[in-house]
Formats: sequence, C-alpha cells, structure tokens
Amino acid sequence: MSALPTVFVSHGPPTLALERHPVVDFLRGAAAGWPRPNAILCVSAHWETEVPAVSSAPAPATVHDFYGFPEPLYRLRYPAPGAPDLTARVAQLLAAGGFAAARDADQGLDHGAWVPLLLMYADAAIPVAQLAIQHHLGPHHHLALGRALAPLRDEGVLILASGNTTHNLRDALQHLRGASAEPPAPPSWALAFDAWVNAAVERGDRAALADYRTQAPHAAMAHPRDEHYLPLLVAAGAGGRGRVLHTSFMLGSLSMGAYAFD
Ligand code: ZN
Repeated sequence: MSALPTVFVSHGPPTLALERHPVVDFLRGAAAGWPRPNAILCVSAHWETEVPAVSSAPAPATVHDFYGFPEPLYRLRYPAPGAPDLTARVAQLLAAGGFAAARDADQGLDHGAWVPLLLMYADAAIPVAQLAIQHHLGPHHHLALGRALAPLRDEGVLILASGNTTHNLRDALQHLRGASAEPPAPPSWALAFDAWVNAAVERGDRAALADYRTQAPHAAMAHPRDEHYLPLLVAAGAGGRGRVLHTSFMLGSLSMGAYAFD
C-alpha cells in the first residue's frame, strides 16, 4: 500500500452535516483522492488534554458536544468501531518520540471528529481512534507530535486532523442564526489569513506555519485562541509536500480550508 497523505479539514459549525455548501460536496468526495485506509486517527480541536492522549474505546460514542442546535442534529450517529490496534501503535510511537502518552477509554467521537467523518466515510466501517491536542504546549509541540506519528502513513492509517483555517467564533456566531438569506462576504482579514496559510502549505513551510502568530496577517483575529489551528500542525508534521484541497468560507469569516500533506 502506498503511503496515505495526512489531511486537515475544517469542520465548521456542528450543523455542517445538514447544510448545503461547497465544503459539504468537497468532503463527500474527498476520500476518493487516496486509498481507503484500514484505520483513521482523528485529531480534533475539541479534545484537549494535559499530556498527549489517544482514545481506546472499543465502540466510541457519538458525542453531541453542543447546545441549542436543531433536533435532527442530535439524532445523527457515527457508529464506527474503535481501533485498539491503532491506539496501541500510537501510544508506542508517542513513547518512542519522547512523549507521555495516556489512553482514554471514555473518550467518544466529538463533533470535530464525527461530522467530517460522516461526510467523508458515511459507511462508518473504518475503525477510528481520536488523538487529543495540548493547547498549552503550543504550535511546535503539535508539529513534533505529527512527526512522531508519520510512520502510520505507511501502515494504512489516515491521520485526519480537524479544526478550522480561521476560527473567530465571536465574529462567526453573529451570522449563525442570522436572518439574512445571503451569506456575508468574507472580511479582508479572513481572506488575508486564509491566503497566507494556503501559500505556506503549498511551499511546505512548516516553520512559518508553526510561527503563524508572528508571520501571518491578522493571526490574533483569525484565531483568538488557537485550538482550531493546532490540528493543522499535526497534519503538517506527519506529512510531506503540502497542497490545498479546498477553499471556501461559511458564516462570513469562517475559512473552510482543507489540505493534504503527501
Ligand atoms: Zn470546532
């Protein structure tokens, strides 16, 4: 089996699976671009831990970790099996890379994981484990996590990182239940940050991606807190040459960028 790319996707609002939007069409067809993996390691912005942790549940629950959304959203399930072999392998690779590695038998699939998985692999037949992020340890830690996990790509495992290219919730939320039928145009700060990330991905500049806080335009506006950016660094650290798979915006400023690292 040839090496799988590592992939970063933007998961947007929890309602994404029920929306009509170009990113939904993209996600539904995205997996046709690479071989079918035998397991998936999903790195979600919505699971934060003190030390690196990997889920070990044999049948991970679909976690509806959001409030006040339409009722049909709470009926969606992603009943993929857990991936005990992958959990053990991740723990081994993390230990070999010098990381503490916890296993969590209670962690289910949060919406950063199950929403894109539902669109990309609707049959829910591929075993899934989740990897946590450590927000307090910053960008370089997440690049290093990715590097430690790179061997998985040759073992039929898809590393699927899930966050958002831009994530200013305060800005986006004003449009979430907005009355306007027309989606608002992306503001200039979001377009500039999105273009900077696309360029850094395409030229394979991991150092710049990690140093985005000082190098990228409007970084603090694009990510007031950067838990939705950090999964991108795990994908970049684990993969090789980068390419942009998709660009679009939702709710005005929310960039729905997706990237592959071959
Ligand atoms: Zn999110």
